[in-house]
Amino acid sequence: MTNKIILFGGTFDPVHKGHIEVALCARQKIGADKIILIPARRSPHKQNQPVASDIDRITMLQLAVKDYEYFQISNVELNRAEPSYTIDTIRQMRKKFGQDCELYLLIGADMLRDLPLWHKINNLLEECNICVMNRGGYEKPDFDNLRGKLSPEKIENLRNNMIETPMIEISSTEIRQALLNNTDASRLLDPKVLDYIKRRRLYCEMD
Ligand code: ATP
Repeated sequence: MTNKIILFGGTFDPVHKGHIEVALCARQKIGADKIILIPARRSPHKQNQPVASDIDRITMLQLAVKDYEYFQISNVELNRAEPSYTIDTIRQMRKKFGQDCELYLLIGADMLRDLPLWHKINNLLEECNICVMNRGGYEKPDFDNLRGKLSPEKIENLRNNMIETPMIEISSTEIRQALLNNTDASRLLDPKVLDYIKRRRLYCEMD
């Protein structure tokens, strides 16, 4: 039996119900054995930094997946010296799990437009299955927009790998804004994560 592994990277600042729900839906559709959540590192040179520290983001991820099977959390990107590229993560995972495993990389529909600009994108598309998921608040993925930026074959593969996840309109930005304004965010987050945020007084002021 092939070992199907889902990789799902993000800033998870904080992890929200949208992340968990689409990942679980994708797992079921792919028939994967596990989902590895990979928080991205803070880069001293880039804008749009995560607001919460690495340790807080990891702890929130641990709390959010506590009640579910399948999830693991990897610190490969947090531990890597800059620059950190997805292709390096895929190669590290390939080395760890072996040539026979099938790697599935999940991305939300909001990421599709810039995908052709990712570092070594052609290698990345050959070394794993990139699966685009629906994202509430965004148009459905439009693969025709990739014409001229990726080969027709690669575009067709992306189209075939698309996963029809439910449209969930939640973002970490919306949650940070709600917490800053002291409005109710309980619909958007796991209660354990919300409780941790409150106890640690995260996101209650602009960084
Ligand atoms: P921010 O608002 O801070 O940009 P975010 O909510 O987009 O954060 P990220 O951690 O940046 O969350 O996202 C990680 C991955 O999860 C990305 O591929 C993103 O497209 C996807 N994603 C995030 N939220 C959703 C959602 N509600 N539905 C589907 N995919 C999502």
